[in-house]
Amino acid sequence: MEETPAGTCEHCGHPFPTSERLVLHKGIEHPSQLDDSEQEAFESAVTEEEADLRTLRLKALAVLVLLYFGLLILYAIFA
Ligand SMILES: [Zn+2]
Repeated sequence: MEETPAGTCEHCGHPFPTSERLVLHKGIEHPSQLDDSEQEAFESAVTEEEADLRTLRLKALAVLVLLYFGLLILYAIFA
């Protein structure tokens, strides 16, 4: 698979800042026009995105839990 620094979609001409964005765009907008290596790149890009999202969600949850217990403790002390 060739690496283009600032990729442009060959199917609709839409420009993308990174080749990863381009891969994700092709997989979502032109799934039937993917070749094998593009398909593979798309799947690994999606897996990475999902892992990132999961980490983000876990962090958000941890912050909420900390906030909740923080308030609970403050309430127990000052109420
Ligand atoms: Zn496109």
